[in-house]
Amino acid sequence: MSAPGAFIESELRGDLRGLVDRICADFPNEYWRRLDRAHAYPEGFVDALTKTGCLGALVPEEYGGQGLALGDASVILEQINRNGANAGPVHAQMYTMGAVLRHGSDEQRRTYLPGIASGQLRLQAFAVTEPAAGSDTTSIRTAARRDGDGYVVNGQKVFISRVQHSDLMLLLARTTPAAEVEKKSQGLSLFLLDMREVSGMTVRPLDMMVNHETNEVFFDDVRIPASALIGEEGKGFRYVLDGMNAERILIAAECVGDGRWFVERASSYATTREVFSRPIGQNQGVQFPIARAHIQVEAADLMRWRAADLFDAHQPCGAEANMAKLLAADASWEAANAALQTHGGYGFAAEYDIERKFRETRLYQVAPISTNLILSFVGEHVLKMPRSF
Ligand SMILES: Cc1cc2nc3c(=O)[nH]c(=O)nc-3n(C[C@H](O)[C@H](O)[C@H](O)COP(=O)(O)OP(=O)(O)OC[C@H]3O[C@@H](n4cnc5c(N)ncnc54)[C@H](O)[C@@H]3O)c2cc1C
Repeated sequence: MSAPGAFIESELRGDLRGLVDRICADFPNEYWRRLDRAHAYPEGFVDALTKTGCLGALVPEEYGGQGLALGDASVILEQINRNGANAGPVHAQMYTMGAVLRHGSDEQRRTYLPGIASGQLRLQAFAVTEPAAGSDTTSIRTAARRDGDGYVVNGQKVFISRVQHSDLMLLLARTTPAAEVEKKSQGLSLFLLDMREVSGMTVRPLDMMVNHETNEVFFDDVRIPASALIGEEGKGFRYVLDGMNAERILIAAECVGDGRWFVERASSYATTREVFSRPIGQNQGVQFPIARAHIQVEAADLMRWRAADLFDAHQPCGAEANMAKLLAADASWEAANAALQTHGGYGFAAEYDIERKFRETRLYQVAPISTNLILSFVGEHVLKMPRSF
């Protein structure tokens, strides 16, 4: 499947698209439909991605990964969604491993990164969100109390995806009570939990609109070794923020993939479906929303590449990464709406896949960060308007 990208692509990116297209050909839309109905995890697809090195794309070569730039890796996620598949159940590893790579100890890097690159270990669970704190991350209450040669964790997380299909979990917990720190962003710590070795964790699956294997997680006196701490105690929030630009750019790429899939499906259906003795796409009322969606997806892709290029050049890219995520999520949602409308009643029929992808792409208005929080970041940090919270 070719990509109507706005850029002249490098050979590597063309090869990556070809590789993902070949993998996706073995996991057609029917596969995703079946999993969606059964709320099942795409084990076979994840194995295929892992074997071809796709999920170790960002792990440096010295640890057995591909050592790709973020822009190149983003092509993998984009192309998964471009094929009508769903990168959501697998994408976390790409942005969570950055915390281990950048802030982990030599020992943590040596212990975990080769296994993550080879697929022996999965780092797909990232536990931040809590019921009472919501978007206000620094208000989380899950606590890790120092005890002898380790920590004891108590608390609750919500909406934590892929827990049952991951070996490792990145966990954000409070190590110093909020009342004892100057700023609420202090006193939070990041841990790399080997879930195969802990007891006291209860995982309760949630019945969600999208199939990301999403759970509530309860920590009841969970004892973890001190060696699970990433970087310095109390600096976990900074480490999480540090990974957010990569996360935003990768999600933007997924949305671009979704958007292109919707536009292609909508334009081809509008060209072949005949009502009133002519193709419905001959009516400008049908044609224009699809054309508009295409324009918006391609415009969002420009911001995605601007953000990715800055990231890979080690330049500040917070504004661009956030804007790319917002523009791409809006564009894919607009494209989803146009595709659903174009398909009429058939858009609601599972066998056309539009309704599944419609639900999947809607998520990106809310997670991993909601649109309002991006607007507030741009208002406050880019445009220097007054802080609202
Ligand atoms: C399918 C799915 C998978 C997820 N996977 C994970 C995961 O793996 N790990 C993880 O940690 N989390 C995960 N999440 C959680 C996700 O990151 C949160 O849902 C998201 O950050 C929003 O938090 P909330 O749901 O508590 O919404 P709230 O914070 O309660 O916000 C509700 C609404 O109010 C708006 N709002 C809140 N405060 C303001 C304000 N000050 N100004 C303007 N608007 C505001 C928000 O934008 C939002 O639209 C997942 C969520 C879903 C749905």
